[in-house]
Amino acid sequence: MILLAVPALSDNYVWLLADEVGNAVAVDPGQAAPVHAALARTGWRLRAILLTHHHADHIGGAAELAATSGAAIHAPLDPRIAEADIRVEAGQQLELADGLFRFEVIATPGHTLSHVAYFGHEMLFCGDTLFSVGCGRLFEGTPQQMLESLDRLATLPASTRICCGHEYTLANCAFARSIDPHNTALAQYEARARALRADGLPSLPSTLGDELACNPFLRVSVLPIGGAADAGSRVERFAQLRRHKDQFKAVVA
Ligand code: ZN
Ligand code: FE
Repeated sequence: MILLAVPALSDNYVWLLADEVGNAVAVDPGQAAPVHAALARTGWRLRAILLTHHHADHIGGAAELAATSGAAIHAPLDPRIAEADIRVEAGQQLELADGLFRFEVIATPGHTLSHVAYFGHEMLFCGDTLFSVGCGRLFEGTPQQMLESLDRLATLPASTRICCGHEYTLANCAFARSIDPHNTALAQYEARARALRADGLPSLPSTLGDELACNPFLRVSVLPIGGAADAGSRVERFAQLRRHKDQFKAVVA
């Protein structure tokens, strides 16, 4: 399998996964044009489209790509994703392109209520739930829902490649550093991400092992959050950490 992160819009990635003979799956095509260009460049043939959630920056190009390729759009049941051809359900084993691709559908409410992630081929396509060294904003779900979603993802194998929806890694590292300043794994990971970005390359995918070592939202049990939250429950600590992140303003060089 070959994995390609296609930049789209300002900081989104559309993920393309292809087998050895060029059958390809696209995840979260917020825009059609960069995906068309990548398909033309590689010669890959789009066989299926997967959507994690209803936000326009993840689905905006899906209908056009489906129309030009004939690929079916797979998405969770949500009236805000009208263009879906096939609805996916949590716990389902998806078989795409005559069984060439297999994914487990994982419910990941929090950023939005109907958000799902797709796990297969040792990769996780997690949209705006888990970011590298961060997590999505809580637009619809509760802190408890998001924490449970992240806990579920954290049980996957540590070698799992984390393919998330946005290039937020350096900004997330700046925040993580502010609350986890002595984490040497984080410092090393940030240096690597900075070098990749300086070369114009995606910082992604990371691995789940990287995230378990560096991502403060997977480390709420061990990190000092500050204030009253430290005496509170794990959910309260997570909620406080997410609020800190919402208010955090950093200058990322
Ligand atoms: Zn989103
Ligand atoms: Fe997004």
